[in-house]
Amino acid sequence: MQPIFKPYNQGQIELFPQRLDDFIGENDPVRLVNQVVDELDLTSLIRTYKGGGTSSFCPRMMIKVLFYAYMRNIYSCRKIEAALSENVHFLWLSGKQFPDFRTINDFRSKRLKGHIHRLFSEVVKMLNELGYVSLDVQYIDGTKIESAANRYTFVWRKSVEKNKLKLDAKIGNIIQQIEKGIQDDNRAADETPTPINSKELKEKIKSFNAKEKQSREQKKQVKELEKHQAKLEQYEQHLDTLGNRNSYSKTDSDATFMRMKEDHMGNGQLKPAYNIQISTEDQFVTNFGIFQNPGDTSTFTDYLDSFEEKFDRQSSEIVADSGYGSEQNYDYMESKGIDNYVKFSYFHKEQKKSFKNNPFLIDNLFYNPNGDFYVCPMGQKMERIGTTHRVSDRGYHSEIANYQAIRCEGCPLRGECYKSKGNRTIDVNHNLLRHKRIARENLTSERGLMHRSKRPIEPEAVFGQIKSNRKFNRFRLRGLAGVAVEFGLISIALNLSKMMKKVINERIMEQKALVLRAENIICLVKTEIQNWKSIVIKYCFSFSASCIIKKGTAFSDSLFFIASN
Ligand code: SF4
Repeated sequence: MQPIFKPYNQGQIELFPQRLDDFIGENDPVRLVNQVVDELDLTSLIRTYKGGGTSSFCPRMMIKVLFYAYMRNIYSCRKIEAALSENVHFLWLSGKQFPDFRTINDFRSKRLKGHIHRLFSEVVKMLNELGYVSLDVQYIDGTKIESAANRYTFVWRKSVEKNKLKLDAKIGNIIQQIEKGIQDDNRAADETPTPINSKELKEKIKSFNAKEKQSREQKKQVKELEKHQAKLEQYEQHLDTLGNRNSYSKTDSDATFMRMKEDHMGNGQLKPAYNIQISTEDQFVTNFGIFQNPGDTSTFTDYLDSFEEKFDRQSSEIVADSGYGSEQNYDYMESKGIDNYVKFSYFHKEQKKSFKNNPFLIDNLFYNPNGDFYVCPMGQKMERIGTTHRVSDRGYHSEIANYQAIRCEGCPLRGECYKSKGNRTIDVNHNLLRHKRIARENLTSERGLMHRSKRPIEPEAVFGQIKSNRKFNRFRLRGLAGVAVEFGLISIALNLSKMMKKVINERIMEQKALVLRAENIICLVKTEIQNWKSIVIKYCFSFSASCIIKKGTAFSDSLFFIASN
């Protein structure tokens, strides 16, 4: 038999060309992206276009393309450009328009700067209106994502400060020599030259050059000063860029060198990166923030403020790990009326027997709040001897109460109690202890246990999605604003994918429910029919019987036949 093939003609002309819409599935995520972006308010973004000149690509179309590209794990502008001419979904979204990679990159890195947080919050508000998130609870955690910067272009604060100090000494020495007009070989080694900034040095050089009479030696020294002035300016610039950080990258000055989790053995590497903070609810990203410092503790208050800015409200519950459990953060949550489910550093340790049974630990000493004194394991009073104040890097003031035992000499427990000389002293932060007590009660309550069991599958799972499943391990744009655009896009893409899954699940559930209802109705009808059938049979039998008795006619035979069938 001859094989039969379907007709194949690449040059086929169609009388009625098909619409691209016909190629898009009813439940395809691209339809959701299209619908969501159509609902977004882009007024402020459109206002940034100057007007006049050549026509621009529609920003709504560009946003649809970018959202969908990030949903499909396509982050490179060249790949998005290729998808626009190869992929029917992209073609449908763009309306058969073909912006090139430069246009896409310009739109992403320039146009979206300063608008991404608003676009993101609009999507989250939409999720809130649809009932997918309540915004009442935030599961917060942070991760580090590598910057696009070169890994070996670091500037370290310590080395800049050290070199600047040496340069200050050199400059001071030369200035002294010039001013004295003599070769100062005999200057005392410990004589500290006064540090001078680059502007002042520039003025000094000008004044030296203005002098008519200059020896050869002096001229040489002034030239040397000019060289040092350039270097000094460079150091000052480095320190300016560093701000309160310890390092930065020359190729992305906003990125800080952070220790990253690299291999399975936990060996990390220092790489230029950003500290990303996110809040999740039911694995939807409800907020994100980009920070330059590696520590999570110091980002907390600013991060929660950004949530309030976006949604004009604050969540009633916060769940986070012990990295966020500082006095300042607890105070902040209390002032905002937030129920905290935030662990503190010793939360897990203090649940252990060895901790609970150690009578020498400050947490296990008896405290009398009325008399404001502690009682040590030997029953001795530890009286308050003073108060000290500590100021954190972020300027937060803590009050520390100091207590001291009256006489530890000759105490049989001394070896176990403490090692230093003199009577034992302890420092206690009562405010922090109060916050810890509240956090402990919350975390061990029924609701706290529920939140604790959910926390590992909330932000952690989202980071897994982003870094492992979506392979988003390194930023492509540089600077805080660029990085925010990229992370905003990936968060929106994640939310839309999650929303799509929920929508499809809801539809499947609806269909299942419909099928179930239909089956129930059929079942009911069948039972009803069965009931009626048995009634009719009964009636026919009894009627035919009476007929036989009375007449014995053929009519009774026919009724008997109907009843039995
Ligand atoms: S060493 Fe001092 S503080 Fe410790 S148990 Fe003995 S008396 Fe008390």
